Amino acid sequence: HLINIAIDGPAGAGKSTVARMVATALQYIYVDTGAMYRAVTLKAIEMDLPLEDNDKVGQLAKQLDIVLLPGAKSQRVIVNGEDVSSLLRSLEINRNVSYVARLESVRQRMADLQRSMALEKGVVMDGRDIGTHVLPNAELKIFLTATPRERANRRFMELGPDAGITLDQLEKEIAERDRLDQEREIAPLLQAPDAHLVDSTGRTVDEVVGEIVQWGLAAAKT
Ligand code: C5P
Repeated sequence: HLINIAIDGPAGAGKSTVARMVATALQYIYVDTGAMYRAVTLKAIEMDLPLEDNDKVGQLAKQLDIVLLPGAKSQRVIVNGEDVSSLLRSLEINRNVSYVARLESVRQRMADLQRSMALEKGVVMDGRDIGTHVLPNAELKIFLTATPRERANRRFMELGPDAGITLDQLEKEIAERDRLDQEREIAPLLQAPDAHLVDSTGRTVDEVVGEIVQWGLAAAKT
């Protein structure tokens, strides 16, 4: 039978890549919840909203129709009919998203949307609070990590050499984002007690994906 799989962990641990490949292998639907918080952040910045304003940003989040579609390399994100996928990975969004993700109104709305996406099982969802809050009954939970240096390195490659940031700066910014995500009051970044801890440092993507797919197949049998 079909199950739901939650993949959580800090920034740059490889969650999106791994989650997408696991979903492909199992013919499941992949949901990138980070992209949803990024989309709200993008729109809030475009509208010049104060990013710490729970009411204003929450109101905006409620009006956003966020649709996730499979894409060639990563998930495509359509917000009120507009494809914003290429705008979500900028340094500006990276630097602001954790402030928007602290807001209770935004988290409530995102969790509602995410739960509705997982009503029919067969979903691989990646984020920070999927195993702990959004899908506490997910049949398989993974907490994916890697060393801070390795995570910074991966994001550095993703951004490319012209991003205007050094590897050291990027490592600091990632650490700061993790700190904000871990220390926030609502649904902080945390390993669920029943999650498998997977450290991807020095391992290939295929190895990690293979391990999770095997667990997924086993969980689907029980
Ligand atoms: O996974 P990604 O790096 O794209 O996530 C961007 C940010 O969105 C995270 O740093 C976090 O602040 C927020 N987020 C969250 N809960 C999730 C997914 C992402 O708070 N489930």
